[in-house]
Amino acid sequence: MSLLLINNIGQLLAVENQGRPYKRGLEMSDFPIIYNTWLLIEDGLIKEIGAENSEAPTVKNAIDAKGSVLLPTYVDSHSHLVYASNRQDEFAQRLDGLSYEEIAARGGGIINSANKLRAYSEDALFEDAHERLQELIKMGTGALEIKSGYGLDTDSELKMLRVARRLSSVSPVEIKTTFLGAHALPPEYKNDKEGYINLIIDEMLPEIANENLADFIDVFCEENYFSLEESLRILAAGKVYGLEAKVHVNQFNSLGAVSAMVNRGALSLDHLEVMTDEDLNSICKSNTIACLLPGCSHFLEIPYSPARTLVEKDAIIALATDFNPGSAPNGNMSTVLSLACIKMKLKPSEALIASTLNGAAAIDLSDKIGSIEVGKIANMMILKPKYTIESIPYHFGHDLIETVILKGEIQ
Ligand SMILES: [Zn+2]
Repeated sequence: MSLLLINNIGQLLAVENQGRPYKRGLEMSDFPIIYNTWLLIEDGLIKEIGAENSEAPTVKNAIDAKGSVLLPTYVDSHSHLVYASNRQDEFAQRLDGLSYEEIAARGGGIINSANKLRAYSEDALFEDAHERLQELIKMGTGALEIKSGYGLDTDSELKMLRVARRLSSVSPVEIKTTFLGAHALPPEYKNDKEGYINLIIDEMLPEIANENLADFIDVFCEENYFSLEESLRILAAGKVYGLEAKVHVNQFNSLGAVSAMVNRGALSLDHLEVMTDEDLNSICKSNTIACLLPGCSHFLEIPYSPARTLVEKDAIIALATDFNPGSAPNGNMSTVLSLACIKMKLKPSEALIASTLNGAAAIDLSDKIGSIEVGKIANMMILKPKYTIESIPYHFGHDLIETVILKGEIQ
């Protein structure tokens, strides 16, 4: 049995204390705080949380939090962490005035990433992604969703998902994987979309299920990518293998996907930059999580999702990085939290819940992580002295994290 005490905690931001899997709407602005307290970890789990101003037990292995703020580590519920190389060359083209769509039409974008990834070995992909994951831990990320979607053929999609599973087996970060074969149409199927959809359904999905490589399924439902009807077919095929839907929708256009996917019980709908009244009404009344990606809006200079309206209409909001080499090359959840406050007008408390508990719900892990509650995995971080939760959006771009603890181990 291993015990670790964290003593002298100035503020413990529990985020939740009644075991709820998520918070919605205006209840996101309210969370329990315990002042002047301590916390005991046993074998990687939260064993006991002290009452306010109570005396800590005597434990040999102890950390002094020096009166600082303790909070759960971030849950990044939407990332493309496994990729072959960056796309800085496209960034230069953008700075010369080309749009994301124009760059894609010239063979850039997702197809550029796919060409590079297909040529990469599984080991090289793993090494690169592992290095990035180590950086994310320092930035306070304790759980992460990773998508495929840069392979776009059976071998390469499986290769990506195997790398994600391998990361999960060596890292203390909780990792869930999502199959995104329908991210774009690969060049060899340029004139045969039906053929590619059949490849996804008849070949990729059975092999992925056979190796248990994916937890969820995703589709890029967008003009010039996959239509609503095609997306629903692919998601239905995934459901046969028990893969819940987490879907890229409404990034550039509203195709009516929000209500169609809410009605089919999607776990999360991600992006949601372009929302009609009907889209808003259907997601806000549902238990489907609205996963917002402000880093992508910032980098692509596209509209931000109407987060304030979503909160006021009682939606469940999660925030994630969308970390990927094309549209969001930043995996720092503190930056996301800051953008959510500055650009989307979320309160720091709302942004924190969206980055922790609700993010955990968006990858079906909120029974284990996302809040500081007894029995949950001991994933937490301590801020540098004198900083508060409001400091994170305020000091945008600064590193305010002193200590990260994952599964009860100091990182
Ligand atoms: Zn994405």
